[in-house]
Amino acid sequence: MSLEQEIKRRRTFAIISHPDAGKTTLTEKLLLFGGAIHVAGAVKSNKIKKGATSDFMEIERQRGISVATSVMGFEYNDIKVNILDTPGHEDFQEDTFRTLTAVDSVIIVIDCAKGVEAQTRKLMNVCRMRNTPVIVFINKLDRIGKDPFELLDEIEEELKIKTRPLSWPISMGPSFKGVYNMYERNLNLFFSEDKTVVTDDVVKIDDISSPELDTYVGDYAEKLREDVELVEGIYPEFDIDTYRRGELAPVFFGSALNNFGVKELLNCFCDIAPYPQKTVTDAREIDPFEEKLTGFIFKIHANMDPNHRNRIAFLKICSGTFERNKPYFHVGSGKSLRFSSPNAFMASKKEVVDFAYPGDIVGLHDTGNFKIGDTFTEGEKINFKGIPSFSPELFQYIENADPLKFKQLAKGVDQLMDEGVAQLFTLKMNGRKIIGCVGALQFDVIQYRLEHEYTAKCRYEPISLYKACWIESDNKEQLDDFMRRKYTHVALDKHGRNVFLADSPYSLQLAQEKFTDIKFHFTSEF
Ligand code: GDP
Repeated sequence: MSLEQEIKRRRTFAIISHPDAGKTTLTEKLLLFGGAIHVAGAVKSNKIKKGATSDFMEIERQRGISVATSVMGFEYNDIKVNILDTPGHEDFQEDTFRTLTAVDSVIIVIDCAKGVEAQTRKLMNVCRMRNTPVIVFINKLDRIGKDPFELLDEIEEELKIKTRPLSWPISMGPSFKGVYNMYERNLNLFFSEDKTVVTDDVVKIDDISSPELDTYVGDYAEKLREDVELVEGIYPEFDIDTYRRGELAPVFFGSALNNFGVKELLNCFCDIAPYPQKTVTDAREIDPFEEKLTGFIFKIHANMDPNHRNRIAFLKICSGTFERNKPYFHVGSGKSLRFSSPNAFMASKKEVVDFAYPGDIVGLHDTGNFKIGDTFTEGEKINFKGIPSFSPELFQYIENADPLKFKQLAKGVDQLMDEGVAQLFTLKMNGRKIIGCVGALQFDVIQYRLEHEYTAKCRYEPISLYKACWIESDNKEQLDDFMRRKYTHVALDKHGRNVFLADSPYSLQLAQEKFTDIKFHFTSEF
């Protein structure tokens, strides 16, 4: 197969949702349809259960699982599907945001009873920043939920995106019968009692005006015909280009748990979701069809095997063909590196791979040299953009709790920050180190991992800060003045850039008003 054919048959995406909406269940059903797994229950939820904040075993368990399910690839009707997993817990949402930089589209799962929830909104904001195409799957139709039309309005309003239903539920709750496929204009009714397997036990109806429909769904047939007519009247024809620009979300209804509406979703997804697209670097745009390899690391996973302290770096291929044992240029270090056992991820297994193509994720063994965002090329000095760090909102001083392990601590902190676990700021005034996080659980993870992976002990001390923001200015005089006045609140980030640590919304606002030539950035990419 040519490079072009390989690229065009790839779909790399993430499933995102507010916890409990059904992301894990849907993922599993997609894998079942893809033949990647054969029974339900093979995909473990990567959720940290509520109240388990201090349960480190739970964190470890979650990390173990999320390695196995970091990337799940499978073949379906000649399409290579790559699902990128994202952490369920909101304290690790930075990880999710980074993963979203490596996908070409997303599927958002929404619970039909709860509608749009807090994390759905946040994740959608990230999608909007990048114009990522979005498909919505409204789940749990086997329960009584909101009216479908109401849900569509809610999505349009709250997620600020136009919608177009491509499937429609036949009733809801205990009498839920299945979905009408508006994309293919036909109907599959499932009758199998065993919901854990995929069956061929379906009745196909190609025309909803057919009396056959009434024999199967009784009184609901008329309601369906009315609803469909209404939908066709209200919503314009589905337009694939508007979807691919991220302006229109096709919406599917179903029940992941009961296999309803999942196949309709998967078939349509394979049809309309974009294949790997162009990516932006600091020098130029990269076209996936370019012959030479380029790619970037969007995730680093440590300690896959407790007996080996190595890490796996996840490389997203952006152009060209990746080949095992071929030397590639690691832009960060300027070194040429080759990989003898790169991993591909099929279902929840990993295996050594000889070739990989744009859209694929390759796992590279790393002994602590790689950072999130690192770029690989065949010699060109470019850096991929768009993997931001976000302004943290939780801060603590980090101190060494074991004087004999100073070096181990420094190394551990360094590597954990490279992995993107949290951000480190060094106060200019006295060199004290501050950890900045988005979620409180990250502090626990750092302390636990320092101890178990680096034999180092750390202690936290409280510091009252509101937000960290990156500052820059062309007005040197004003910047110098700012540095002098805010001396106690200026720190350097890991890359030596200036960061203002505001202790209240008020002091931030005051600084912004007073120093008009200084730009205050809330993500590290500017
Ligand atoms: P996640 O947190 O988004 O990954 O959600 P899960 O997939 O773990 O699902 C959360 C809960 O909802 C689990 O108890 C699932 O069994 C349940 N669930 C998922 N899909 C459905 C569905 O279609 N109908 C019903 N009734 N429950 C579902």
